Amino acid sequence: MLDFCIIGSGIAGSTIANLLSKKYSVHVFDKARGPGGRSSNKRFKHNLSFDHGVQYISPKSKLFTKYINKLFRKKKLKNWDDNHLDFTFEKKSFSSKYIGRRANNDLVKYNLKNIKQSFASPIERINFKKYFWEITLKNKSKHQFKSLIITCPFPQLKKLAKQYLDEKILKLKVQMQPNITVMIAFKNQKNLPISSIKFNDDILAWAANENSKKRFKSNINLWTIQASLKWSKKTINKYKTDKSIMNQLISRFIKLTGFKKDKIIFKKIHGWKYSYNYEKTPYLSIWYKKINLGVCGDWFNGPKVENAWLSANDLARKIK
Ligand SMILES: Cc1cc2nc3c(=O)[nH]c(=O)nc-3n(C[C@H](O)[C@H](O)[C@H](O)COP(=O)(O)OP(=O)(O)OC[C@H]3O[C@@H](n4cnc5c(N)ncnc54)[C@H](O)[C@@H]3O)c2cc1C
Repeated sequence: MLDFCIIGSGIAGSTIANLLSKKYSVHVFDKARGPGGRSSNKRFKHNLSFDHGVQYISPKSKLFTKYINKLFRKKKLKNWDDNHLDFTFEKKSFSSKYIGRRANNDLVKYNLKNIKQSFASPIERINFKKYFWEITLKNKSKHQFKSLIITCPFPQLKKLAKQYLDEKILKLKVQMQPNITVMIAFKNQKNLPISSIKFNDDILAWAANENSKKRFKSNINLWTIQASLKWSKKTINKYKTDKSIMNQLISRFIKLTGFKKDKIIFKKIHGWKYSYNYEKTPYLSIWYKKINLGVCGDWFNGPKVENAWLSANDLARKIK
């Protein structure tokens, strides 16, 4: 029987897996088809891809800055050139922005190297059986582990593990907000010397120029655009069936940038139901020693890669 089952291959799941694997045997499960969670990357074709979750990392704490600098030196991360504009199209002040060398799930892939991992493996049920945990996948297969770590967003955690969480956790007021993201590819559209633009608009919040990340050279321009919170809330439950939602967002982008609609060769919408929460909790992670159950994730402390990483490090310290 392996020591740890880890649910989730995002920043928190991959970080805790990496830290624990120095001493224990671990197996990571994720319901998605690939690693990364909210730092996933979608390939369009060849080496052209979109970061449709995390756009960049701006470290703040000493500990995380040290870690990011290490990955920068190892050439896993690089800088994203600073031509990030606010809605007045004025250049904003400089802040270091780090991105993956090939994609923004590079960090997760680096963490998970040599670790046992299963994708397209949604875990439907967890049971503590006195001395071990039994997890049941959607395909009804069962697996047993000595300990269990859950890294999914708060609403998914409550659904999966309600009976094992104590009152102080169940009573937390963590509201995870949605986000609607659209990926667009233009052919032969004159590229703009812009890395990202922040919009002051009811529908559109932000757009990132994937070409400006300099991972590929192409006459195809890739843009990832994010809807405003107001509009994401309004559309999150119907974006899969109502095609006009993607088209409205694209029309807005085109109107605000002056791009040409007839140059679009690809478009895809993605809805993040549990994108981020504004509130902070009084905790960084949970470790229930009696039942060998741990919980970590960004939602404890705010919607940043840094907080997911700090939460996983906090949990690893508690386990040790
Ligand atoms: C659109 C968007 C843009 C963002 N931009 C930035 C940014 O620029 N910079 C920044 O620092 N942060 C950004 N964030 C926030 C950042 O993505 C998160 O803080 C961080 O990725 C969270 O990592 P995590 O490991 O805690 O959670 P997640 O990445 O959500 O990982 C949880 C994993 O659990 C899996 N899972 C859930 N339930 C199950 C189950 N039952 N069985 C198996 N697997 C399951 C999920 O598939 C997922 O992979 C952004 C978020 C979004 C949505």
